[in-house]
Parts: sequence; structure tokens; C-alpha cells
Amino acid sequence: MPDNKQNAFDYDVVVVGGGPAGSTAATLLAQHGHSVLLLESGKHPRFHIGESMLPFSEPVLQRLGIDWSEGNQFKSGAVFIDEATDQRMYFPLSVYRKTYQLERGPFDQVLFKNAAAHGVETHEEEKVLEVDCQPEGVEIISDKAQYRCRYLVDATGRSALMGKKGKTIDRIENLGKFAVYTHFEKIQPGEEADELFRSGSIYVPVVDIGWLWIIPISGRRLSVGLVVQKERPKDCEVEELLRRYLAASPILQRLLEGAEQYAPIRVEADFSYSNQSRYGLRYACCGDAAGFLDPVFSSGVFLAFTSAARIADRIHEGLHEGREADPLLHAEDDEAYQLGFNTMRLFVERFYQSNIVHNLFFEADRQPDLKDQIARLLSGDLWAENNALQQNLLAGRRPNEKLNLS
Ligand SMILES: Cc1cc2nc3c(=O)[nH]c(=O)nc-3n(C[C@H](O)[C@H](O)[C@H](O)COP(=O)(O)OP(=O)(O)OC[C@H]3O[C@@H](n4cnc5c(N)ncnc54)[C@H](O)[C@@H]3O)c2cc1C
Repeated sequence: MPDNKQNAFDYDVVVVGGGPAGSTAATLLAQHGHSVLLLESGKHPRFHIGESMLPFSEPVLQRLGIDWSEGNQFKSGAVFIDEATDQRMYFPLSVYRKTYQLERGPFDQVLFKNAAAHGVETHEEEKVLEVDCQPEGVEIISDKAQYRCRYLVDATGRSALMGKKGKTIDRIENLGKFAVYTHFEKIQPGEEADELFRSGSIYVPVVDIGWLWIIPISGRRLSVGLVVQKERPKDCEVEELLRRYLAASPILQRLLEGAEQYAPIRVEADFSYSNQSRYGLRYACCGDAAGFLDPVFSSGVFLAFTSAARIADRIHEGLHEGREADPLLHAEDDEAYQLGFNTMRLFVERFYQSNIVHNLFFEADRQPDLKDQIARLLSGDLWAENNALQQNLLAGRRPNEKLNLS
């Protein structure tokens, strides 16, 4: 490995952003033997939405040495619901690999501390203000110090440091416009609640303006949210809108009877986009900094883990072989990333545009192959190359057209 002191680099890699993507990239780079600085503007544990995980994240967690079963609610699957017709469709997800519903505050803290335990130098409450990627190296200016390194990882989430700097963020229209959500505790015993916490599934009731999420979290707590895709009624504020939809849902009425709201109502808007320059001269973006999709299929943290692992391995290769200044270092990996991201994007677009829950998901009960294909996409099994539904999505065929299920 080249001598950094001689080249006046403070670190091999500086990772900006200490969420799941940043902590993952930093830990794996340290495991590869590099000197890594991880900068986080907040202080862990900090609140973050995004509690429902996908099982195909598991191989990355194993590499990190993280046991995510500890203290978290086992998630067996996803249930899509139309309360008007009382139809429910359950997709088992934890079949080959297990997954969980978790509170992001403590979980992100575990990942961040794990990076430090692997030799990463971690700084909290330090915000990166400016970066300059040059052929000779990268300059980083934070609100506390200045650094010089060989490579930059942008894991700043929806702050999208490099995407905003290069003005390369492309909004994806027609998906959810905003989400409004809160948390309840003291969920009382009862048939509905007991079944929910036994299966640990995410419930997704579809409603006229979008969909709701119901996520059971350990300690008999619930995360509930409303994602609005259509024009919202103008006669009420967003907080009132959430209350209205919670009250109108018979399932939620049963689940929330006697429960107590313990968190504020929060709102997040304009969240779907793709960053058109995800990599370049001495930098790569991962997680939400590369792109973000409406959360209906809970793909965010999974894409954060898998994209971070991919770029960490490639940066290691580039540094090891002296190819780190090649702006196309990540070109091949980016194709793999795009395959995963675009599959999810097309799937989410179909969710909104073609009434997929009625036309495909409920239909899947009569077609075991189709049910398996949907479950595999919902699990994050995106790079297997033998999923007919995925191939149809990518080929631009509508999933409710005649499907090639062979
Ligand atoms: C309404 C909603 C619901 C969601 N539900 C789910 C779900 O159920 N399941 C799921 O998997 N995902 C979900 N997501 C998505 C999920 O939250 C994200 O995909 C995930 O957090 C991405 O991880 P990340 O590490 O890329 O970014 P983040 O987790 O956002 O981490 C980025 C970090 O960078 C730090 N940072 C930013 N700028 C700077 C800077 N300049 N200097 C230093 N530090 C900086 C931030 O403080 C932050 O800690 C949801 C998202 C939304 C909006």
C-alpha cells in the first residue's frame, strides 16, 4: 500500500455521512486495511425514519459482523391490504434469510460504533461544507477542520452533497409526494395486535390518496404513516390528514385502541430522485446520496447497504492497484446498482400507476410462481437474473399484461 505520509494524505478515504451507507462503506474499507475517517454532522443516536428492513441486506451485515436480531422485531413478511374489500395478500420474506423491523436511532448508532471498533476514526457533530476532487487528491473542508485524502465517499443521505454540488439530482415525479407519520406505544392485547406482533409483518393498507404503513417495533410499539401520492384534500393540515386516515382504517382503530402516541407527527416530502453523477474523479456516492425511492417497498436501507459494500470493495481495488484517479472506476458496479435501483423504481411506479395491488398482488394467490417472483423482489433478491417478473418490468411490459412466467 502506498505511503500516505509521503504523499501528504491525512487518510486513504474520508466518508461523509454516518448513516447505514457511510458506516458500512467505512467499516469495509477499514477491514480492507485502509485508513478511514467517517464524519457525521449529527450525534448518535439520532432519530431517522426507515424502520422496515429487507432480508437480502443480510450478507452485508454478516461482513460487518452485526447481529441485527438483537433487540429487534422479527419481520416475517409484507401484507398488502384493501380494507374496503377486506382483501389481504401476505408475501413471506424471511424464508431463506431473516430480516427485522427496527428503530433506526439505536441501529445506526450500533453501525457507527462498529465502524470505530474496526479502526475507523469517527467524528460526530462535524459537518462537511465543501469538497474538491482533483486528479492529485481530495480536499475536504468541514466546520471544524480541513483534510486531504485519496478518495471521497459521499454517504450524506438525502442531503446529497455531490449531487447538489454538481446539480445532478433528477426528481422522479409521480411517486409519493410526501409522508406524514408518528409512533404509538402500549399496543393492547387483542387478536389483530397479537397476530401483527407474532408475524412481525409490515402491513400496507392501500387508500384513495396513497397508502399507509403499519410497522410493529419491539416493545409492542407501532410506527404508522401515510404516504400521499394524489392531490391531498385541501380542507385540512397534514397532521389532521394523518389522524383522519388513521381513524378511517378499521385495522388501525383496532390496533390503536388504548395505545398512546409517544412521538411527534413528522413530515418528509419530495423524496424520490436519482443522482445522475453517482461516481467520478476520486469519489463515489452510496445510499440515498446516489438516489432515493418512495418507501412503499422498504428498499432504502437495503440499497444503502448493498451500494456501500460495492463501492467500498471497488475503492479498495482502485487504491491497491493505483487506479484511484480513474473517473470510471465504478462504471461496472454502477450498472449493477442501476439494475437494482431501476427494478425497484419500475416496481414502485407500477404500484401507483397500474393498481398493482389489485391486478397483481391479490392475483398472486392463484399463481404460486408469480407469488414467489413478487416475494423475491420484495426481499431484495434483485441480481439473480431468473425472475420473470423483474425481466418483464425491465423490458417495459406491464406486470398485469400477459406475464411470461416460465
Ligand atoms: C417516509 C420514509 C419512510 C421510509 N421507510 C423506509 C423503510 O421502511 N425501510 C427502509 O429500508 N428505508 C426506508 N426509508 C429510506 C431510508 O430512511 C433511507 O434509505 C436510509 O436512511 C438511507 O441511508 P443512508 O446512510 O444513505 O442515509 P441516512 O441514513 O440519511 O444517513 C446520512 C447521514 O449523513 C449525515 N450528513 C448529511 N450531510 C452531511 C454533511 N454535510 N456532513 C456530515 N454528515 C452529513 C446525516 O446527518 C445522516 O446521519 C424511508 C424514507 C422515508 C423518507
